[in-house]
This record gives sequence, C-alpha cells and structure tokens, in this order.
Amino acid sequence: MRIAIIGGGIAGLAAAYELEKARAAGAPVKYTLFESRHRLGGSLASETVDGAVLEQGPDSFLTEKPAAAELCRELGLGDQLLPSNDANRKTYILVRNRLVALPDGLMFLVPTKLIPTALTPLFSLRTKVRMALELLHPPRPSQGDESVAALVERHYGAEAVDRLADPLLSGIYGGDSVQLSARTVLPRLVEMEQKYGSLTRGMLAAHNKMRAMARTSAQQGKAGKPAAPRHIFTALRGGMQQLVDALVARLDPAAIRLAAPVQSLRRNGESWVVETASGREEYDAVIAASPAWAVGALLKPVDAQLADELTAIPYSSSITINLVYDEARLGQLPEGFGFLVPVSEGRSMLACTFVHRKFLGRTPPGKAVFRAFLGGMKRDFLLGESDEALVATVRREMREILGAQVFKPGVEPEHVQVTRWNRAMAQYAVGHKERMERIAARVAALPGLRLAGNAYDGIGIPDCIRLGRKAAQELAAASTTLAAQAH
Ligand SMILES: Cc1cc2nc3c(=O)[nH]c(=O)nc-3n(C[C@H](O)[C@H](O)[C@H](O)COP(=O)(O)OP(=O)(O)OC[C@H]3O[C@@H](n4cnc5c(N)ncnc54)[C@H](O)[C@@H]3O)c2cc1C
Repeated sequence: MRIAIIGGGIAGLAAAYELEKARAAGAPVKYTLFESRHRLGGSLASETVDGAVLEQGPDSFLTEKPAAAELCRELGLGDQLLPSNDANRKTYILVRNRLVALPDGLMFLVPTKLIPTALTPLFSLRTKVRMALELLHPPRPSQGDESVAALVERHYGAEAVDRLADPLLSGIYGGDSVQLSARTVLPRLVEMEQKYGSLTRGMLAAHNKMRAMARTSAQQGKAGKPAAPRHIFTALRGGMQQLVDALVARLDPAAIRLAAPVQSLRRNGESWVVETASGREEYDAVIAASPAWAVGALLKPVDAQLADELTAIPYSSSITINLVYDEARLGQLPEGFGFLVPVSEGRSMLACTFVHRKFLGRTPPGKAVFRAFLGGMKRDFLLGESDEALVATVRREMREILGAQVFKPGVEPEHVQVTRWNRAMAQYAVGHKERMERIAARVAALPGLRLAGNAYDGIGIPDCIRLGRKAAQELAAASTTLAAQAH
C-alpha cells in the first residue's frame, strides 16, 4: 500500500514513524511525507542559544496524557524527559496591573478550598459569595453544548470568566472562552454538572474518590506507599526539537519531501492523486496531517461538504517572544512560573513564563529567560507588527507589570527571539463534537483517507501523536489484510 502523508508536524511525523515500524516488521507499506516548509516539526521548534533552550512553539506536554512520554522513551529519549519544577509552581493573574496568585485548591477552573478562595484578592466579595452559593446548584440535565464562558458564568459569575477562565484558556492556547465548547474542552465539568449540580461538589467528590483509591492501594500494598503526586508538565532537556530530530532519524530520508506543499488532491478510481510542484503521484491512501483549513482546501474537489466542515474549524494565531537576560542585572522576580493577563487589562501580552523557573537545568546558571505569548483569537492583528515593535511592547509591558525594580533602566536583553504562528492552533468551538461526528461519517465514505492533527480530538502534543500513530496503524493493518487476501 502506497501512503501519502501530508504535513510534517508532530502528527505527520508520528504517522511516518509508525509506518516505518510497520514496514520494518514486514507490512507491505511504502510512504512519502510531504511538508510545505523547509523543515519538519510544524509547531515544535527550539534552538539553544548560549546554553539556554529557547522554545519557539510548545515548551512541554501534559504528563497525564501518556502518548508523548511513551514515544520519547521508545525513541531513546527517556533520560531527556524533564519534569516541571512543581515545588515552585505558582501562577499569577494580572488584576488592575497587580499580580495576584491563583488561589490554592483551584482545579480545572473550580475553586475547592474555602479559606484560600475566601481570602484571595483575585475575586470581589460578590463573586466569593456566589462561589459559596454554587454549592447549592441542583443537577442540570444535558441541554446541548454551550461555551466555556457560559458554563463558568452560570456557576461562578462573569468575574470568574474574566479573571480565570479567559486568561487560562487564552494564555495557554490562544483560545476565547466565549467561543470554546464546554463539552469538548471541559467534558469533566459538564458531566459533574449533570450529576452533582455544583461543580465544586463534583470536583471535591472526584478528588476524595481518588484519594480513597490511593489509600486503598497503599493499604493493600499494591504500590508499597502512596503514589507521589505527578508533575503536571513534562519537557525535554534539549527542547522539543529533540523529539523532532529523534523521529526524523528513524525515517527513510528518501521518503521525505521538504518544501513540497501538496497543491491538489483528487480521486482516480480507487487511488488518490497527490499533486505538488514536481508533478502528480498516485497513492492508495492519504494521511492528511496538515491543519484542517489546509486539508479542507485540498478536499474541495473530492467532497465539498467535508471540505466545508474542515474549513469551518476556527484556528488562532499567536506569537512567542523569548528574552534572555543576565540574571545579576535584574531585580528580584516574584516566586513561581509566570503570569496570565486577562483581556480586560488591555495589554498585548496574554501570558509570560519565567522559563528558568518552570524547567530547571535548561537555562545556564546566571541567566533568566522570559517567554511572552501574544495574539490569540482576539489579538491576531499583532502578527502584522514588526519584530522591533513587538519586542518593544513586550519589554514595556513587562516593566509595567513586574516593576522597574526588576527591569532596571538600561538593562537590555542579551538575546531576543520572535516567532509567529499563523493559524496554528485549532479552537474547539461550540458544537465541535457534532462537527466531528459529521466529519467522521464523511471520511468513512472515502476509502484510504485518515485525518490526524490538532483539529480533531485534542490540541496538545500527546493527542496529535496518538492520532498520527493510530491513522498509520489502521492503514498498516489494512495493508496486511489486503496482502493476505491477495495470496
Ligand atoms: C506557540 C504554541 C505553543 C504551544 N504550546 C503547547 C504546549 O506547551 N503543550 C502542548 O501539548 N501543545 C502546545 N501547543 C499545541 C501543539 O504544539 C500543536 O497542537 C501541535 O504541535 C500540532 O501538531 P500538528 O502536527 O497537528 O500540526 P502542525 O504542527 O501545524 O503541522 C502541520 C504541518 O503541515 C504543513 N502543511 C500545511 N499545509 C501543507 C500542504 N498543503 N502540504 C504539505 N504540508 C503542509 C505545515 O507546514 C506544518 O508543518 C502549542 C502550539 C503553539 C503554536
């Protein structure tokens, strides 16, 4: 079976790796990976400057989703996995130009601890009273999808959306809580609302259940002692580029076409015709791992309805700016990993990570690395600004937020890196689940077509890896079955 992979981001690379493994194990598969840029990895990109690892795209992945760490171990990168420095985990929200720490006990936007919630200056008294009364919410039967903002506002009020839901979602994924689907982005909360009514009660019940399970297994001697709490994020010591390089090293170089954007995709009987600037080639199957808007454009002549569904998936654009400083020339930073900025603060920055604090050992001693995140659904116009203007804005905002005692006059960054990500992050808008069902039904009617990437079933790196590998495994299994039938 000849398989074309369109897109060499992490999803496409994971698919290629899986096909390479299947080929080595004897499956009758042959693949070609088409990537429009001159480099592989898509959003995963990092460089090391004077010993400091600078991430241009993602800096880590969620530890609780195993697909990424598993792949790293399989590729021999197990000793490169680096836990986030959770002992020092503290995140601030900017409220009226003051950094306020997220209160202790916050779980998935849900406050679960009475005293920290009562004492935090993050919320007004009115919101705190509302948070207490939330415990009385009656269970709510499913009424279809709604936005994350609507769900959070119904439970905790508009201030919780502005100061919590929106900055968390936009600071991490450039998302807009008014557009994002509660059912897709926060499925656990939607289930809890149906069962318990109150999200706080639901979260506490889930937490207690987990603790009881951990105690039981410890008593039964299963684990010997209670499991240590796992770190939330995992990075790679040398940066995400290590994962890209390790994957590429396992692939057949002759199967990779760089600077080769697929220009059109057509059916010819049972085959797929893939056209690039170098000509047309026929394949038995296609793994479409480019962004959904790009796949939609290619599939227009094949299935216009499927193409419309794919192009309707919104994407956000973003900018990351890394600034490296000599730590000795800076004043004392607040503790923790960094801060998030609500849109209501009227700033350009959405978030800032104190990189040297979040992952230890990736910044040389004596250096401080700040990573600013800008853009998102509400500020994508910033991508049109020059690097100089963006850096000037970020430096001014950091000085105004962290204070002139941290960024003293005359102190310049030693290195600056600006990266633009145009329409790189899919947004799971209200109705995403239903859209996925319609897409799945139409894809099923097109033999040999598989979709993989961040637009479908998880935006993070582990989900993209899972989908890429699954697409490749399905096609490799089908090729083996077909070969067996032919004999
Ligand atoms: C700034 C930023 C920070 C992030 N932070 C995190 C994080 O900390 N943790 C986390 O888990 N996730 C994070 N993400 C999300 C995660 O990185 C992405 O969702 C994931 O990498 C997407 O992988 P992908 O393969 O689906 O798509 P992409 O990486 O977008 O790859 C798609 C590839 O397709 C290529 N392509 C497009 N059109 C064509 C065509 N016609 N022909 C051939 N090739 C084509 C593109 O050039 C690209 O290389 C972040 C993303 C960004 C942008």
